[in-house]
This record gives sequence, structure tokens and C-alpha cells, in this order.
Amino acid sequence: MGKPAAPSNLTAMSEILDAVRSGASGEVLASIDMPLKTRAVFVRRDEQSMFEGMASADKDPRVSLHVDEVPVPALAPDEVFIAVMASSINFNSVWTSIFEPLSTFGFLDRLAKESFWGQRHALDYHVIGSDAAGVIIRAGSAVRNWSVGDEVTVHCNYVDDQDPSSHDDSMLSSSQRIWGFETNFGGLADICVVKANQLMPKPTHLTWEEAAVNALCNSTAYRMLVSHNGAPVTQGDKVLIWGASGGIGSFAVQHVLNSGGTPIGVVSSASKVETLRELGCEHVIDRRANDYRFWKDEHTQDESEWRRLGKDIRALVGDDPDIVFEHPGRSTMGASVFVAKRGGTIVTCAATSGYMIEYDNRHLWMKLKTIKGSHFSNYREAWAANQTIMDGKVVPPLSAVFPLVETGEAAYEVHHNRHEGKIGVLCVADREGLGITNPELRASVGEDRLTIFRRHDQE
Ligand code: NAP
Repeated sequence: MGKPAAPSNLTAMSEILDAVRSGASGEVLASIDMPLKTRAVFVRRDEQSMFEGMASADKDPRVSLHVDEVPVPALAPDEVFIAVMASSINFNSVWTSIFEPLSTFGFLDRLAKESFWGQRHALDYHVIGSDAAGVIIRAGSAVRNWSVGDEVTVHCNYVDDQDPSSHDDSMLSSSQRIWGFETNFGGLADICVVKANQLMPKPTHLTWEEAAVNALCNSTAYRMLVSHNGAPVTQGDKVLIWGASGGIGSFAVQHVLNSGGTPIGVVSSASKVETLRELGCEHVIDRRANDYRFWKDEHTQDESEWRRLGKDIRALVGDDPDIVFEHPGRSTMGASVFVAKRGGTIVTCAATSGYMIEYDNRHLWMKLKTIKGSHFSNYREAWAANQTIMDGKVVPPLSAVFPLVETGEAAYEVHHNRHEGKIGVLCVADREGLGITNPELRASVGEDRLTIFRRHDQE
């Protein structure tokens, strides 16, 4: 069998995108030919060694991320093309752009070996982005529940539904991937490609840029703290949340509050403390002001500093945390294992500061604690997490918006921890504030609540 054929009708890019911008019906959109090319953000295979030998902090996404036109690929029967109104920066956008812990081209090459349609992904460029909100402009012949013209958001769990291991919890599937990180044709583009089983309805009370920043981080936090697959919070639980005003942390805080637990947020500035208080997180620790030094040097941790953090938590909430929401990794894991309550759980999904972890195992086994690994979410969990947004129970932590051409700048902000919450990226939407179709629900959730992170960023 040959390679999948790309669309062959050349149409001015602006025609279909203008139609989307003007709110054209599905029928009209379906009648306009697909363009051959789309604007997209990508890294290049021939540059994957460009930062070799440099310190992480010096690797600059503004140099490695390119914005240019690339060919629109062919569409598989179970996929849709989406005109992406807005997307977001995730930390995986940073990992791809600095080629750490490894170049993502290896993922694409492996995917290409698996199937006829998989072959499309191994290209000399990798279009990144694991979030999107937009409008379906084409649906493959096997797509049943969605139509051209539907307004959608996208979760990034990319699974092969013909793989038996996908059919208990799809996150346990041996073929599980993260769209736009381990696959090509991601959301930081005017047109992206997703499987129909990644689609979810767009929350009607949100703008495009508000709707685009939730799926990856909210679903991750939902699985970690709400789903039975994670460490579900029950009423009265105390939950220590590292990076509580960051991408996943800001959703974690809201899920703990909604579950009747008490979040203890850790952040690194007075302004982040204020943001969290406005979100409803009463107990906040400023790790910078408290100057915790968990590591005496590169090789030695300081138990007295773990103990100091534990005392600070008890002073705030009168107890040790039942659950620790962990993701900084090497710099905090020793402290996280120490401060968790006897019988408590440390649930972890990442290791931003380093994945070779050290903790004192005596504190784990003698106090019967559990370390629970977690990774993104299955479709059911992502759908439930999206429902919390649709119901206005969880608000988007959108703090800033960049145009697609400035994606490198936006990723640089996240790489250097200069942001709060989430950064949105405008793609087809030519300005902010578009996309609200349910102003009544928006009013009932409250403009102030919906814009907490944005207002704090602008102060
Ligand atoms: P983010 O928006 O940058 O937030 C991370 C927060 O962590 C920062 O706001 C920072 O808060 C805190 N932090 C960073 N370094 C720290 C350190 N050394 N010690 C203590 N706190 C530190 O990133 P994110 O989107 O929340 O993602 C966080 C991590 O989770 C990333 O590594 C990402 O790749 C990973 N992730 C994994 C999954 C998954 O499915 N497995 C999904 C989403 C994200 P303060 O400076 O305010 O303390």
C-alpha cells in the first residue's frame, strides 16, 4: 500500500477560515474546498541537536519554534480537521522546543511504523500543541457523533481503539500517546488533525481562548484528584498542592475545593498568593519567602527542612496532608514523601526539576504511605473534567494571550516560570473575546471569577 494522499484542491487559505470566523454553517463550510497548506508551529528535525551541551535554562524556544505554512495532511476515516480558533502552551510544548528529555522525532518515527495512516506523522517537522478549541471543517467517513460546523474542544489522549490493551483504561494502552507531543499535526496551527474520540463540546459560556486552555491540565488534575484511577479526595482531606497557581495546580485547587477538601497551595510569589486566595484557596505557602532548602547540595537533602515544611502545614491546617499533588520532582519529592500523613498518598504526574528522584524510604514504608503514578486521563475522565468547565464549577486559569506568530515567546515565559495559570494562543480567531454563545451562563458563573488569572497578570 502506498502513502496516504494529501488533499489536491488548492483554495485560498482565507476562504474557509474567513467562513469559520464569520460563523458559517456546517453546510457552507463543507462546500468550501480544503486548502493545501496551513500555518503551524513546529520544530525541525535538522535542528534537533541545536542545543546540545547547553544548560536547560539557556535552551530557547524562541529559536527552535518556527511558524510557517506546512502542507495539510490527508484525513483518516476516524479523524476530523479542526479550524483552531485558539490553542494553549503546555509544558510539553516547552519539552519539545528544548528537545528534552529527548527529541520528539523518535515518537513520530515509531508511530509511522505502526499503520498506514501512522506513516503521515514521520516528517522533517513536528507540528506541536496539545490543546485546541475550534470548529470542525471536515469529518472522515467513520466519524459518527460529530459534524462539520460543530464547536469543540480537544483532549490529547491519542489511542488506537483496535488495540485490546486500550479497552479497560485507555491510559494503560501500550499504544497510548499524547497528541501534539508524540504525534504530529497538533493544535498550535490554523488547521489541526484529531481523532473523533478526542472531541468534546466547547463550553458555551467561554471565549475561544478561555475554552482552549483547559483540556490537558484540567483532565490531568481530574484523574489525579477526582477519578478512582488517581488519589480521589474525600470530604475533609487536606491536600498539599505544589505549583498551585500553575497549569495543573490551578485546576487541582478547584477540584479539591469542589470535593470538600482543603487545599494547601505552594507558590513562589506574593502575587501568586493573592491569585490563589481569590480562587478560594485559603491556605497558601510562599516557598520563596519561606526559603525552604530541601537540598544542602546537589547530592544531599536536609530532613530538617522537610520537617520545617511539615510544621508550616500543620500550623495552617492542624494536620499532615492526606494527599500530596506532586510534579516538581527531584527538588520536592523527598519533602513530599516526608510531609504526607501516615497512610497518605503522594500522587505524581511529572518531574519538572529532574526525574531521578530521591526520598527516604523509611518514611514511606514505616508510615504506610503510597506513591501513585498518574498520566493525563482517559476519554471518560477528560469528558467529566470538561463537564466541570461546562457547568461553570471550574474556571479557566487563562492569564495571558499571545498570537500564533509569538508562540516562541509564550513558551519562553512558561519555560522560565514567568507565567501564572495558562497562556492561550490565538490561531484562527483574529481577536480575543469571541466565541461566547451562552452569556446567561457566563453571567451566572461571574465575569470576575472567570477572569481571576487575567486580572492578576495585568496588575
Ligand atoms: P506550569 O504551569 O509551569 O506550573 C508548574 C508550577 O510548578 C510552577 O508554577 C511553579 O510554581 C512550580 N514549580 C516549578 N519548579 C518547581 C520547583 N523546583 N519546586 C517547587 N515548585 C516548582 O506547568 P504545568 O502545566 O502545571 O505542568 C507541571 C509539570 O507537569 C510539567 O513538568 C508538565 O510537563 C507536567 N504535566 C504532566 C502531565 C501528564 O499527563 N503526565 C500533564 C500536565 C503537565 P511556583 O514557582 O509558584 O511554586
